[in-house]
Amino acid sequence: MANRLVTDKFIHGIGASAGIIIGKAFLVDRSLVRPAQKRIGPGEVDSEVERFRRALEESKNQLAEIKERILDPEVRQHSFILDVHLMILNDAMLIQDTIDTIRKRKVNAEWALEQTIDKLDAAFNAIEDEYFKERRSDLRYVSARLFRSLQGKKHDDITKIKGSVIVVAHDLSPADTLQMNLKHISGFVTDMGGKVSHTAILARSLGIPAIVGLNVATALINGGDLLVIDGESGDVVVNPTEEVSKSFLERKRRIKFLEREVIKYASLPAETQDGVRVQLQANIEMVDEIPSLKIYGAEGVGLYRTEILFMNRKELPAEEEQFQVYRRLAEALHPAHATIRTLDIGGDKILSNYPKGNEMNPAMGLRAVRFSMKEIDIFKNQLRAILRASAFGKLKLLIPMISGIQEIRQVKAILQEVKRGLTKAKVSFDPEIQVGVMIEVPSASITADILAREVDFFSIGTNDLIQYALAIDRVNEHVSYLYEPLHPAILRIIRNVVQTAHQAKIPVAICGEMAAEPAYALILLGMGLDEFSMTPASIPRMKRILRLSRFEDAVALVDRIFQFQTASEIESYVRKWMVERFPKDFTAHSSVQETRSSS
Ligand code: PEP
Ligand code: MG
Repeated sequence: MANRLVTDKFIHGIGASAGIIIGKAFLVDRSLVRPAQKRIGPGEVDSEVERFRRALEESKNQLAEIKERILDPEVRQHSFILDVHLMILNDAMLIQDTIDTIRKRKVNAEWALEQTIDKLDAAFNAIEDEYFKERRSDLRYVSARLFRSLQGKKHDDITKIKGSVIVVAHDLSPADTLQMNLKHISGFVTDMGGKVSHTAILARSLGIPAIVGLNVATALINGGDLLVIDGESGDVVVNPTEEVSKSFLERKRRIKFLEREVIKYASLPAETQDGVRVQLQANIEMVDEIPSLKIYGAEGVGLYRTEILFMNRKELPAEEEQFQVYRRLAEALHPAHATIRTLDIGGDKILSNYPKGNEMNPAMGLRAVRFSMKEIDIFKNQLRAILRASAFGKLKLLIPMISGIQEIRQVKAILQEVKRGLTKAKVSFDPEIQVGVMIEVPSASITADILAREVDFFSIGTNDLIQYALAIDRVNEHVSYLYEPLHPAILRIIRNVVQTAHQAKIPVAICGEMAAEPAYALILLGMGLDEFSMTPASIPRMKRILRLSRFEDAVALVDRIFQFQTASEIESYVRKWMVERFPKDFTAHSSVQETRSSS
């Protein structure tokens, strides 16, 4: 193939796993091979069905073998993805539909399989949900493997990677990733994928830089090209000039230096220089994230989003399955607390076997606690599982999207009923389990004084609070410029909620994304929040900022910003204030592209 020499070409994708790497590209051919479509004679039908069955077996054996070969326990944790692929290969509909098509339409196995896959894909595509998108990619990976098996391709280049390379592929299945000798992989670059794709999650937990969703990577990059990739900003440079490489290496040096500095803070308390102590806790979505809590120094789990446990599957998790998961969390965290939020389903997050209601405004529809109160059996099951797990550690219960006192009273009545049932059945649980509410609906923030009498703690969910208070759909890119965490309305709401909670002598946490923004750390501290809950990797940096600050300065900062009238005035004032006090922290992370375009 003729070499298209591209020099110093910047491509921009989604930074899926942080880290800057310079290395040679290794191109993996994972473009979906369009299999040959052939008609077959009536006498060939049985052998074609047999050929399909053999390919199924072959693919299953390959996956089982990959699974067995994974020795590294950290990589092994992710092998459940291989089970998902095995499940697809065992799916009765996939097998039967393909065989029926071979028989009825007299077409070769590849063509029949393609038709079945298209049908399944269309069914998944009709469901608007990030997790179903992932199932669609699992389907693609499995079909590509089956097509390879049908074509008799047993081994592929992926297992033979040597040296240290950046893998460039159209798409990578988790099975592909697990099959590689990860010691030889210094980075991943793919055309497809999003931040929550399995490969991205795997890359993050293994600490391998990755950029996904580049669209044109395989079109622009040749095997052997020199690449520099920045897994935080999402930048890829193909055959960089020496000057560009140097600027990336310089950024890497700055970030590394800061990270070495920052990680030292992980195990220290989040205490300011004038002795004010807050709690830094973790937001998690899967119990598999538990090991990272220790690494980053989380002092507990402030928000366990239970949705993932319920999504992505045909049957809802039974009480027992949920109990095992919650118990694992309770035991692993003990003696620290883990806050389990009850199902926040609805809106754009739907359950697979639950009909999607035609709601005009799903974000304001049957969501979260409203869904739980309608599907009372699902709710009671979850409460029972959480209560049972509470006997094995310290759990707290957090209720999402509460809009007024009536709802929390109803929830508590149901909780009482579930508790009574457990007592009667002589099942242990923590009778004093604390119950808190998310403050994320404006009416809840305005009536915080009333709510505070009914609950043990508040947790402010700024992601939704901002959307509901400012009337800005949090997923609508047309109005995203108005999604302003530092809008005076939001700051007033937070300050009032904190003051109200403290008057009622209950603690107040913040668990929206705003809590993980280092530039806002002192505003939140100055407003008096007791707990900050965020993605675990953000904790050390936040601790460092808090430990190098004084509470009285933070209070003065808050007084000052309350004099401004717009979010942009507040934002620029705060950023300047932070850069002056923490120059290293706030300049190291600006990307090479940002630095280039601003100079
Ligand atoms: C929030 O709304 O801020 C929050 C933490 O919940 P979620 O992002 O899951 O809606
Ligand atoms: Mg929310």
